[in-house]
Amino acid sequence: MRLIRVLVVLNALIASMSSYGAAAGPSFQGAGGATEPFRVIGNIYFVGGEYGSYLITTPQGHILHDTGSADMHDLILSNIKKLGFNVQDIKIMISSHAHWDHVEGHAAMKRVTGAQVVALGGDAVALRSGQDNSAIGAKSFDPVPIDRVIEDGDTVTLGGVTLRALWTGGHTQGATMWMTTVQEGGKTYSIAFRGGEIPNDGAPLFNNPRHPSVVADTQRTLLRLKELDPPDLFLHNHPQNPPQKLDPSLPVDPRCVTCFDAAGFRKYVAGVEARFKAMLQEAEQSRRTPGQ
Ligand SMILES: [Zn+2]
Repeated sequence: MRLIRVLVVLNALIASMSSYGAAAGPSFQGAGGATEPFRVIGNIYFVGGEYGSYLITTPQGHILHDTGSADMHDLILSNIKKLGFNVQDIKIMISSHAHWDHVEGHAAMKRVTGAQVVALGGDAVALRSGQDNSAIGAKSFDPVPIDRVIEDGDTVTLGGVTLRALWTGGHTQGATMWMTTVQEGGKTYSIAFRGGEIPNDGAPLFNNPRHPSVVADTQRTLLRLKELDPPDLFLHNHPQNPPQKLDPSLPVDPRCVTCFDAAGFRKYVAGVEARFKAMLQEAEQSRRTPGQ
């Protein structure tokens, strides 16, 4: 039983990591019609389509986490309206990592909202240029001006809400796990929005000019994620198929197919670490036996 569950988790994990495009896990439409927006927990709303996009509301405007692919732009706008919020009230845009399926909509969203775009290190470089600088080198996207370049540990604050950036470089150079707390039913819950963990399958791990420190960055990321007190709720940026079974005491909307509880987060990190070990072993082997 336990083994089956581990296999299911691993399968979902591989599906979510092994590609960038529409084939990356199920579409939300296929996962219970979750293109409808909903409140996940506290002041966090799911507004995305195929990939996760979240609105964090405050009395002084809102923060948008990820804009997804360009195809998601209109849907996100209509979802925000459907929830009763004003798109013009988006003041800050942040992101999980600078791959097109999470930031392709940034330029258009900034044009509509005028929001301040915040990004970390190498991801800020990628967003500004529109060129993917991650180890895999995926497709480019519309460049977007960056208003604030942050470093590991920096915070973004709006209307009494603070999100702290944990640099999780490896998947992309400036992948960022954003962390905050929310109130729900009189309790406080720690929340982490997924940044990224390990490089995509097929990304060269050695002598990769796009991201020369990809191995060291990934190893440091995995260490940090393991050392972290697991968040009560981990919000992924891809739907999980099947959705995670959550701690029933966690007060999240049951439609959340991107949600992991604390135990799920631990398993997830263990899964990506195992996957990276295998990738590294394979890369080291082929480095020793070139031409094979
Ligand atoms: Zn990615």
